[in-house]
Amino acid sequence: MRIAVLSDVHSNLVALDAVLEHAGPVDAIWHLGDIVGYGPDPDGVVARLAEVKAAGVRGNHDAAALGGDEIEYFNPEARAAIEWTRETISDATRAWLAALPERRTDGEMTLIHGSPRDPTWEYLTSASIARASFAALSTAHGLNGHTHVPAAFTLDDDRVVPFRPRDGESLSFAGLRTLLNPGSVGQPRDGDPAASYLILDPERQVASWHRVAYDIRAVQASMHDVGLPARLAERLSHGL
Ligand code: ZN
Repeated sequence: MRIAVLSDVHSNLVALDAVLEHAGPVDAIWHLGDIVGYGPDPDGVVARLAEVKAAGVRGNHDAAALGGDEIEYFNPEARAAIEWTRETISDATRAWLAALPERRTDGEMTLIHGSPRDPTWEYLTSASIARASFAALSTAHGLNGHTHVPAAFTLDDDRVVPFRPRDGESLSFAGLRTLLNPGSVGQPRDGDPAASYLILDPERQVASWHRVAYDIRAVQASMHDVGLPARLAERLSHGL
């Protein structure tokens, strides 16, 4: 079984399409929220995810785009992008985003955006937060995004073991508990500008991470055309 797990697409349709093409035929597509914000094509991204029947959860940017007060916590550029998104999105996009739950479970997998104890805001970035996250999970495993950095933590007896996956690397978690982060499709922040995602086989208990180059200049041109902050376009070139 092959499930493509995507997170933090952030209205970047060019990156999303590159990832879907790279993944090829899959049994399911799951997403971990932050579908919109930052990028130039919120309606296009939501239409594509609806078309491929992606199942997933809501992120802080999605909540803010729907009018939530999450926007109060954003930096000026993120806020400007959400204000633009609010004015731009169609009723269909709004309805699709509004239907996303905060968490979703499928077998022994829980999907959340941030962390199990705070699905909207907490960044799952350390062994101590990972330990608290395992305690807060009702399933064996978790899938999370929000940090825009591909990562995993496994729980081996009482030991939390971090894993920083490179392109093409796999993690076998049979007999362990794990928290898997696919990285970001639309705005990576680990210094590699290529889109990041993972392929999950829940039966064999293996995850593999992948990086996919896409036409960053085309996205930057679209962002310029619609008047999004220049700094948000610029950062895509650096993956930061
Ligand atoms: Zn995000």
